[in-house]
Amino acid sequence: MELTVNTSKRYTIRIERGALDQLGAYCASLFAPGKKAVVITDTHVAPLYLERVSTSLRNAGFDVTSCAFPAGEPSKRLSTIEGIYGHMAQAHITRSDFAVALGGGVTGDMAGFAAASYLRGIPFVQVPTTLLSQVDSSVGGKTGVDLPQGKNLVGAFWQPSFVLIDPDTLNTLSPHFFADGMGEVIKYGCIKSRALFDLLIETEDITSIMEDVIYRCVDIKRDVVERDEFDTGERALLNFGHTFGHALEKLHQYQGLSHGAAVGIGMVMMARLGEKAGFTAPGTADKIAAALEKYHLPVHSDLPLSQIVEATASDKKSTGSSINLVLLKDIGESFVHKVARSDLAALAEGCNE
Ligand code: NAD
Ligand code: ZN
Repeated sequence: MELTVNTSKRYTIRIERGALDQLGAYCASLFAPGKKAVVITDTHVAPLYLERVSTSLRNAGFDVTSCAFPAGEPSKRLSTIEGIYGHMAQAHITRSDFAVALGGGVTGDMAGFAAASYLRGIPFVQVPTTLLSQVDSSVGGKTGVDLPQGKNLVGAFWQPSFVLIDPDTLNTLSPHFFADGMGEVIKYGCIKSRALFDLLIETEDITSIMEDVIYRCVDIKRDVVERDEFDTGERALLNFGHTFGHALEKLHQYQGLSHGAAVGIGMVMMARLGEKAGFTAPGTADKIAAALEKYHLPVHSDLPLSQIVEATASDKKSTGSSINLVLLKDIGESFVHKVARSDLAALAEGCNE
């Protein structure tokens, strides 16, 4: 399956089981033989897939080097980027060479940011290997790192030249990270596709329809990103569940509650808020909760609502005295609704019960 993204850069997303071995062949249609490819990956993914990817690139005539940083979100920082720059400089990477991000969202965000800034920008290819990175972070061109002061505070919009998604890489992913990605998959159904949502509810074996599920999610992200590449409008819809979700992650100090799990709880809360305020069809929150439970995600937080509401104040998307809420009219239909921050506590009352 293939999609084309029409943003400031036009690029192809290829979704294909076993496609990891075809990476070199695909890159050969984009970059001249003999060019250097620097594969950036992490210490969990390297032993699993680096050899296959490097061999595929070498067989296609590229001069391959690689660097692996310690796996995990704490590595998503400027000091790791400096290490990647050092590797690129030693390998004499030029602007006509390219980087390959092989791994999850942490790898994609960092390799993308290193590519965006090294020599003021070199091309890069995304090879996402977690469900979250396949359906979300590898598409859309947001790259960056965390600061001690907050997540994703430094970054750049830098579109990849190509995205290669091999759903078979999910076979080695832990159930924890699979469930985490399912939080975002369910989100896509909620905001844009009742058909996807129903499919998730009805299927007895998600792994057998993974290619189709990934395709549907990526197609939604592609559509939203094409209309709002630089995140000034419609892209906000992708943040459904994230207002309370980010607050919950923060309250858990980014430990114990994964992003997808936090977003799931945030989606249920926002649907309940919408139902209570008369924006959202009755029963929507229960439907979302049922979908989350099916995929082993929590639907409720034990933290006091007042704390959760208070923690939304540091949300990057919140602008001073008002806050943009992403609400559902129904499953598959979403919209942005601006409210006064001072009204949020009253609006949210009862939505985490
Ligand atoms: P991650 O990259 O840390 O991957 C999760 C874990 O899975 C890591 O330990 C990794 O080594 C391991 N792993 C990766 N692929 C594997 C595989 N196939 N088999 C076994 N293990 C594998 O985290 P993530 O959840 O993929 O991504 C989270 C990051 O993505 C966050 O930093 C978040 O800010 C970012 N993000 C970015 C965007 C964007 O638009 N750029 C969107 C959403 C999230
Ligand atoms: Zn998210």
